[in-house]
Amino acid sequence: LKKVFDKVKDVKARWEYGLWNIFSDEPITDQFFERLEEHLIAGDVGVGLSESLVKGLREFAISAKISRASDLRAHFASMLKDMLSQAQGSGSSLKFSGPVGLVLLIGVNGSGKTTTAAKLARLLKEEGRNVVLAAADTFRAAAIDQLKVWGKRAGVRVIAQEPGGDSAAVVYDAIQSIKAVGGIVIADTAGRLHTKHNLMEELSKIYRVALKDLSPDDICPILVVDAITGQNALAQAKAFNGAMPLKGLILTKFDHTAKGGTILAMTSELNVPVLYVGVGEGMEDLEPFSCDSFVEDLLG
Ligand code: GDP
Repeated sequence: LKKVFDKVKDVKARWEYGLWNIFSDEPITDQFFERLEEHLIAGDVGVGLSESLVKGLREFAISAKISRASDLRAHFASMLKDMLSQAQGSGSSLKFSGPVGLVLLIGVNGSGKTTTAAKLARLLKEEGRNVVLAAADTFRAAAIDQLKVWGKRAGVRVIAQEPGGDSAAVVYDAIQSIKAVGGIVIADTAGRLHTKHNLMEELSKIYRVALKDLSPDDICPILVVDAITGQNALAQAKAFNGAMPLKGLILTKFDHTAKGGTILAMTSELNVPVLYVGVGEGMEDLEPFSCDSFVEDLLG
């Protein structure tokens, strides 16, 4: 995140949302806790979670008889790390028990699914995995074309049908194409929100069809969220969680925002790990998420 903060050109935004200047050497007052809560809310942590974090910190300060804000920093860091690591579970790597794993990238249009599919394909290919991309956003012809271009650039095969085709069939074909040798299918899916119900049905069908070949352990639905979306991201996550059980999050466009709060809010609410963060439009701009360095960078 530090790198990302450094990329953020607006210095004011860095100071506004980072928590560097909060844990200063001054004596603890009510204003300190109010300021911390304001910063957390402004950074998209969410009102409820911000209140409960500040309440917990206040109780600790009283019980441990701490009088300087700077002495609370380490405890606050460990509170955040504990919260994140509960959701992080086995960490940020994609593990599958069978020979074929399916990564389903879901999320609203524009969140970065197609780009992330290519970035992830490149990353996993570099790790030596056999990867195939499935163009399951059959609703938008442009998404199919875009994935083909990205796939070519990454040197990864793309399984696609004509626009308007059956997205579950595309994913099915991709699984069949890799079954003999084993590997990972990364599926880009549709994200139109205006026909929300049909979209959720379409996603459920992809999941059901994949279950014909794969065990639930080998299917990894990941929600791709634009980090700028803020609190609205939670509502999106809940809607998509109804279509299939989310196993992870990827937050994109971290190069455009200094707010890290969405990560705290979503992991605490959904209890699923953040696997990667997108930090640019290029093929290489995807980084594995580490909760320790995230918290350290956030607190400065
Ligand atoms: P989709 O509709 O969910 O498939 O979204 P796309 O993959 O088409 O991405 C939408 C836009 O967001 C494109 O212009 C991407 O280049 C851009 N984008 C995706 N990820 C990132 C990121 O991490 N950082 C930045 N700056 N832009 C991104």
